[in-house]
Amino acid sequence: MNEGRKVKPMITKVYENPNIYKIDVPLPNNPLKNLNCYVVQDNGESLIVDTGFNRPECKEALLDGLRELNVDWEKTNMFLTHLHSDHSGLAPAVMHGKPGNIYMSKNDHDYLGWILNGNRWDTFDEIYRKEGFTREQLDWLKEENPARGFEPDYYFDAITVGDGDHLKVGSFTFQCVFVPGHTPGQTCLYLPKEKLMLSADHILFDITPNITAWVNIEDSLGDYLDSLVKIRAFDMKTVLPAHRKNEMDVYVRIEEIIHHHLIRLEETIDALEKFPNAHATQIGSCLKWSMRGKTWEEFPLSQRWFAVGETMSHLDYLIKRGMVEKTEGDFYSYSLTDSGKACKEKLNQLWQIYA
Ligand SMILES: [Zn+2]
Repeated sequence: MNEGRKVKPMITKVYENPNIYKIDVPLPNNPLKNLNCYVVQDNGESLIVDTGFNRPECKEALLDGLRELNVDWEKTNMFLTHLHSDHSGLAPAVMHGKPGNIYMSKNDHDYLGWILNGNRWDTFDEIYRKEGFTREQLDWLKEENPARGFEPDYYFDAITVGDGDHLKVGSFTFQCVFVPGHTPGQTCLYLPKEKLMLSADHILFDITPNITAWVNIEDSLGDYLDSLVKIRAFDMKTVLPAHRKNEMDVYVRIEEIIHHHLIRLEETIDALEKFPNAHATQIGSCLKWSMRGKTWEEFPLSQRWFAVGETMSHLDYLIKRGMVEKTEGDFYSYSLTDSGKACKEKLNQLWQIYA
């Protein structure tokens, strides 16, 4: 019926003074469903926060939305909360030739350079092979992994920001809040007087942020939990996440996420007690995932890839705290350093730091 007719971009005004609009950027064939691109406007100035994937469906929604909001490109900057391509994918395509700047953390900008200029996938494929994926599975994932492709066209310049730096939009000044974990340098934006936090993928409300192992990062889960404790200390009244909705109290949600990781660490210890010298795929297959009744084997391979990444970050956490040992050979293998009961006791004691 609507064929050939342009569908209006989905824009919602989510805050007044400063005016903040949400452009609903679709993420086709991705379980995240959409990206919330926020556009902050004051005194004719705009700040675009995140972009969507580098693919036509996202680009059309984003550019239509920005046109609808009448952004003045002479007075528009962009802020990228983190390097993931559903957040950064369109940054160079949108800002190329415009006078405005792209801002992001140094950690994520550097890491993005490594990804875009290097052989990230070869490095990752070798790690996943040692964690139990077959070469056939990895070849298949080359085409089917939703994390691949859709990256920015090229490595772009950015003004890097650090924790506590300020970013002005009209008469409002945002504070950068550095919260590594989900990526090496994820950064949220905070307005103190308004008690407003753009929480990026650090706090999501109806899905749990993915925490995975990163090359050259020792303990991303430990970093993430520290960053949850850090953000919990902020006075937050309005929290705007980068995906889906927020229909609950942020402090309750933070506790839920912290608890979720404790349970997953305990499950990891249980799995290792049952199957010593296992690799991350074997351990991952023993953990509880929300798979809608499917078994591990029925779980789509691309989802298993994410699940094994999560498992690796939980193993790293236990290694750093002396509860697990990793042996490197043609395959990786992991074992507990003590009985399962003793490891769980140690973990529960240690968990007091997040209370
Ligand atoms: Zn992300």
